[in-house]
Amino acid sequence: MSLQELTGQVIGPSDTNYDEARAVYNAMIDKKPAIIVVCENTQDVVNAINYSVKNKLEVSIRGGGHNGAGLGVVDNGLVIDLSGMKTISIDPDTKTAVIGAGNLLREIDAVTHEYGLALPSGIFGTTGISGLTLGGGLGYLSRKAGLTIDNLLECEVVLANGDTVIANKDSHSDLFWALRGGGGNFGVVTSFKFKLIEVKKVYAGPMFWPLEQAKEAMRFYDEFTKNASKELYGFFAFLIVPPADPFPENLWNKNVCGVVWNYTGPIEKAAEVFKPIREFGPHILDFVGEMPMPVLNGMFDALYPPGLNWYWRAHYFKDLPDEAIEVNVKYGGNIPNFHSTTHLYPIDGAVHDVANSETAWANRDARWAQVIAGIDPDPANSKMITDWSKKYHDDLSPFAMGGGYINFLMNEGQERVMAAYKSNYDRLVEVKTKYDPSNFFHINQNIKPI
Ligand SMILES: Cc1cc2nc3c(=O)[nH]c(=O)nc-3n(C[C@H](O)[C@H](O)[C@H](O)COP(=O)(O)OP(=O)(O)OC[C@H]3O[C@@H](n4cnc5c(N)ncnc54)[C@H](O)[C@@H]3O)c2cc1C
Repeated sequence: MSLQELTGQVIGPSDTNYDEARAVYNAMIDKKPAIIVVCENTQDVVNAINYSVKNKLEVSIRGGGHNGAGLGVVDNGLVIDLSGMKTISIDPDTKTAVIGAGNLLREIDAVTHEYGLALPSGIFGTTGISGLTLGGGLGYLSRKAGLTIDNLLECEVVLANGDTVIANKDSHSDLFWALRGGGGNFGVVTSFKFKLIEVKKVYAGPMFWPLEQAKEAMRFYDEFTKNASKELYGFFAFLIVPPADPFPENLWNKNVCGVVWNYTGPIEKAAEVFKPIREFGPHILDFVGEMPMPVLNGMFDALYPPGLNWYWRAHYFKDLPDEAIEVNVKYGGNIPNFHSTTHLYPIDGAVHDVANSETAWANRDARWAQVIAGIDPDPANSKMITDWSKKYHDDLSPFAMGGGYINFLMNEGQERVMAAYKSNYDRLVEVKTKYDPSNFFHINQNIKPI
């Protein structure tokens, strides 16, 4: 093996920054790659792929390193680390952005905000744009403008044979279809072109109710948001109030439920839109108010720094029968610690304007993607948070639609991957077989070629 064939920053086990370079967001993951290549441009990616093929190395692709299952790193193989690819170029006239694959959401928000624009993406600023987009992309602007993939116009992709192609609706349209939800199965995306939407300030933030009121609050939320305009978004959560500012001390360590809202309509109408919400029952905390969009997008970043232990499980729901609400209230009442939580992310509104077959993302008939996240700083508690997530997930299963958001899966086996893609799975297999017949890219939620 001649390492000279590789370009970019090449890091191996004997380098002092090796442990830092191999660490990912989820501290439960402890993989030891043979080589990490921090790529700075497309040619670095091409060289890394050609080198791995020649030397029969397994390859993982790392964007922001946020994947819960740790699929950005691989034992004894080569990591294509895209964190050196940070370009962001905005065209304010066409309201489009070309974004390098190594950017994190907070880096993108900071730039788009300067232009009064935003990219519909996720709710944590530390997440990588690459993995989030390729798996779909849910967040505060989903009801208004769809998933991140619904705003994707084009990708530059390096394929397993080392070729670089442009995928959009006219060029390699089959690949472009598959990239919108099919994850890292088809090649390394080096840059994404997105359309942006006009959003600068929002009326947003969390509102909590006591756990004793959770059944009524969840039912109210379900019915109210069913008929709400696309400009109103709110994800429902069960949590333990963190014992820290800015939360009032009398609520610290209390189990509560709540909604984190985001209203993107005319600000002068916000008070009227929130009147029925505020009139419903006595909330115990109301932090909803006007703020810049990036403040909302990064609101919970400090509570969840990299290096915590995560185990999560996912479901899709079309509706919330009383029995499902009861399960949520039960597990919301026995959350293991204040980092652990469950969120129901709305995927109605504009997400429903696109048919399931239009992109690889096949769950547009659901109203929510729920994630049950066991999270703890202490590795000794890993079993406790894992058991809580699994039991909670199992008890909700009878009311769920089957499958789970691909970006919220752990290593749960092929059946769960197939269930996530439902009727689109066969077409994904066809595209995989065409672009990656040897399954070179298999450290992912894998779609197996024929
Ligand atoms: C705290 C937290 C908050 C989150 N919030 C949200 C949210 O609000 N909305 C949401 O939709 N998801 C959310 N997620 C899930 C997130 O979308 C996934 O974890 C996603 O995989 C993260 O992307 P990444 O680039 O950071 O991950 P990485 O671990 O770097 O990559 C994950 C996988 O994506 C593929 N991949 C990454 N980059 C590329 C590329 N350039 N080309 C080809 N394949 C690639 C690879 O298969 C890789 O294994 C969250 C995750 C965490 C931990």
